Amino acid sequence: MVRIARGAPRAWENYHETVKQTVSQLQFIDLDPAEAAAARLAGTARLVGAELARGRDIRPVGGAWSFSQLHKTGGDVLTTRETAAVGRLDPATVVGGLDSRRLRLVSGGTIIKQLNVALEAERLSIRTSGASNGQSVAGAMATGTHGSAPSEGGFQEHVRGIHLVTAPGRSIWLEPAAPGGLDPAFARTFADEVVRSDALFQAAVVHLGGLGYVSGVLFEAVPRFLVGIVQRKAVLKRDALEELARGDFQAFAARFGFADPYFVQAILNPFRPDTRPALVRLLVPIPEEALFEELPFLGSLFNFDPLNALSDVIALLPPGARGEIIAILMRKLYPELPKDGGPPVGVTWGTTTPDHHKVGDLFSTGIAVERERLPEALDAMLPAFRQHDGGDAVCTLRFVRKSPGTLAATRWEHNVVIDFDGLRSKASRRAYERVLAAVDAAGIPSRQHWGKLSLLDAARVRRDHGDAAVDAWRAARAQLLSPAMASTFRSQALVDWGLA
Ligand SMILES: Cc1cc2nc3c(=O)[nH]c(=O)nc-3n(C[C@H](O)[C@H](O)[C@H](O)COP(=O)(O)OP(=O)(O)OC[C@H]3O[C@@H](n4cnc5c(N)ncnc54)[C@H](O)[C@@H]3O)c2cc1C
Repeated sequence: MVRIARGAPRAWENYHETVKQTVSQLQFIDLDPAEAAAARLAGTARLVGAELARGRDIRPVGGAWSFSQLHKTGGDVLTTRETAAVGRLDPATVVGGLDSRRLRLVSGGTIIKQLNVALEAERLSIRTSGASNGQSVAGAMATGTHGSAPSEGGFQEHVRGIHLVTAPGRSIWLEPAAPGGLDPAFARTFADEVVRSDALFQAAVVHLGGLGYVSGVLFEAVPRFLVGIVQRKAVLKRDALEELARGDFQAFAARFGFADPYFVQAILNPFRPDTRPALVRLLVPIPEEALFEELPFLGSLFNFDPLNALSDVIALLPPGARGEIIAILMRKLYPELPKDGGPPVGVTWGTTTPDHHKVGDLFSTGIAVERERLPEALDAMLPAFRQHDGGDAVCTLRFVRKSPGTLAATRWEHNVVIDFDGLRSKASRRAYERVLAAVDAAGIPSRQHWGKLSLLDAARVRRDHGDAAVDAWRAARAQLLSPAMASTFRSQALVDWGLA
């Protein structure tokens, strides 16, 4: 019979070892793989409710990929991967003009890789996701995980309804106010209540793990599409950066001989951005009729993980060595694609977002600013990064359209997210502090990624997101959770950020 099993208290850490704690690990076991998705949501809600009745924080964990203190709990961790399920819907259960063929009832613990496989086998696709595929659906929504498709928002954009367990014996099916989702009669087969509210829904699509247990979502996919991976090394001068700031991605892609890029990303050498090549990645549309190839993954974000030990070595080298080493790594470790200069082959979205192989301690940050302010943001950030011999990181530019979510970081009409990723060294941390201070001093509003390493406290959260957004999210939390449950769904991060 399906149940939650409890391990003995033991040392637990998240994927990148930024949270260490002693907890019991709770785990769903004996789930029936053939069970229908709605039945699984009902069973999950019942089990989670029973755990909540014990009055301890059961901190749900998806991929455990967040770097911030979102997993830090005074209670126990509940792993959700075992609940993975992607279920089709009977058209009769869908209302409001949505195309049921593109909708799936997906459990919150489903890992993005599993979702890609399930959707692509049925000629459907995710529109956008992060650079790798190890997050869970609920976890990716939690922090507003994003990719770099300029016409798309964050991952949470796919979500049309949310099954939220908020108390023992109480789960709700939450949708926006306008009808367009599940037939309420069907939703009531697995949820106790159906709630249609824009304010609650907008709060919950970027839930930060603080609004209840996300048992599952109504996920809207798009028809499967193919893209070709193009990777080039090129010096990006001011005119190229201004093109990106204007959103003229056509002109930017034309520099490399391509049109209509679906995805645009550039990794700059923060030490010598004007003279050393940036690593450019485009995903360009390939007609569906083209030969569809299951390519093994060939390269994505410049991957620093295997280079972990380098930070100790770099610290011993003379000033200036850091920038040179980064330039060498960027030159040698990034394959240009297609290799022979021919046309790129068509691959699915899932093929473009590879498995992640962790070797060492990664430094990973993300600062969203309004896209048109990109050049002045870099003018402030990069000199600050370079001071005191700089940090052990590169600077990645990613482009995201306005995203749903009261507390989404990418809430300007068009956003550029400026990441500093590299080795988790003291030099990287200090450089990031200077970068953030510089963007503040330049008077450029910014918002940091909730799931990555950041410098956030309650005052900064209010300043960056605004009182209205913070108050709206907190009001939604108060409406969804009783005081007892509010203290149950509370991580250290939420307390530090003034959100719980
Ligand atoms: C290798 C790597 C690559 C990354 N790439 C990107 C990227 O390209 N773009 C980007 O934006 N971010 C990226 N990130 C950050 C990552 O996407 C986010 O931190 C994301 O939130 C992690 O998802 P997860 O499933 O691991 O969630 P977790 O880290 O497990 O959880 C995040 C929060 O959600 C809560 N939660 C999880 N499941 C549930 C549930 N079922 N119900 C309620 N609460 C829940 C947790 O308690 C926690 O508070 C990357 C991280 C790593 C390690």
